[in-house]
Amino acid sequence: MLEDKNQQKTPLADLGEFGLIKHITQPFRLSHKSTIKGVGDDSAVLESSENQTLISTDLLVEGVHFDLSYMPLKHLGYKSVMVNLSDLFAMNGEAEQITVSIAVSNRFTLEAIEELYAGIRLACETYNVDLIGGDTSSSTKGILISVTAIGKVSKEDVVYRNGAKETDLIVVSGDLGAAYLGLQVLEREKEVFKINPNNQPDLDNYTYLIERQLKPEARKDIRPLLKELNTKPTAMIDISDGLSSEIMHICSQSNVGCKIYEDKIPLDPQVISACEEFDLDSTMVALSGGEDYELLFTVPVADFEKIKANPHLSVIGHITDKSAGLNLVTRAGQELELKAQGWNALVNE
Ligand code: ADP
Ligand code: MG
Repeated sequence: MLEDKNQQKTPLADLGEFGLIKHITQPFRLSHKSTIKGVGDDSAVLESSENQTLISTDLLVEGVHFDLSYMPLKHLGYKSVMVNLSDLFAMNGEAEQITVSIAVSNRFTLEAIEELYAGIRLACETYNVDLIGGDTSSSTKGILISVTAIGKVSKEDVVYRNGAKETDLIVVSGDLGAAYLGLQVLEREKEVFKINPNNQPDLDNYTYLIERQLKPEARKDIRPLLKELNTKPTAMIDISDGLSSEIMHICSQSNVGCKIYEDKIPLDPQVISACEEFDLDSTMVALSGGEDYELLFTVPVADFEKIKANPHLSVIGHITDKSAGLNLVTRAGQELELKAQGWNALVNE
């Protein structure tokens, strides 16, 4: 949070637009056969395969989607890529290329943009995707970043939101709620910092939560895992807005209902203890928290044996007839109707 005022910073104006583009894109290496031409011409050139092409875009705006007082630029770069890769993985596809467009105000220096691109590069290297282009502009206020991810999936493998069938099992990867609580911890520290900038926060009890908020990982591993287990989802979506909102998308598009069991929702121990501390209901946080970037999918009930003992997967319920509605079965056995609410619902409580 503290800036080193003694460090030399380079105004972006010193490089000019073309100098900046060259400087930030030069360290990137291309690794996909399908990338014929990356940065440097009027358009990138991709070789199309027999597979179907996946394209997904997100726009992240300072002050709306992130707060730089606790989001380091390197993490912002990494996360902006993850958000998009997650969408391709949710189609049961693979990611190959990204484009990155930024608009920055004159408050940002070359060193700041280098940090942002260091995060983008780390994501590209870790997930084996090529940066093939983008656009660079100035903004009157703050920073905007838009990433487009391009990938592929075969006709046989593609999974939409609309294929869930009655009796299918509802499965979630990893655990839920941590990213939202990470945000709560960071917001709290920001307030403390405003009052006492010398306070050294002790964040040891929240490491997992903060990591999930600042450095989420898209679930690239789920597609090969399901292949290995010899099962294929009937419907799938990534969890960006919270379990409740995502299951509603699957159910409405598949024309079905669902039953989710509260005691089956996977929670990390740090989530449970932070919920006690913040006086939040952990189920509520998992349902409405968002930004977990886990995958939520349905599989035929006959595949239960294949996934039941897998440490990466939790069966949290099943699909029902549409007329039964969308329900949460509480630990006490009571059935509650699932409400449509993204993470904003928590903030307004
Ligand atoms: P044009 O005038 O045709 O839009 P630009 O000068 O904006 O071209 O971009 C030159 C090259 O640099 C193009 O290949 C473009 O895709 C790439 N590029 C521009 N901005 C970025 C960026 N922020 N990140 C990655 N690549 C970029
Ligand atoms: Mg341009």
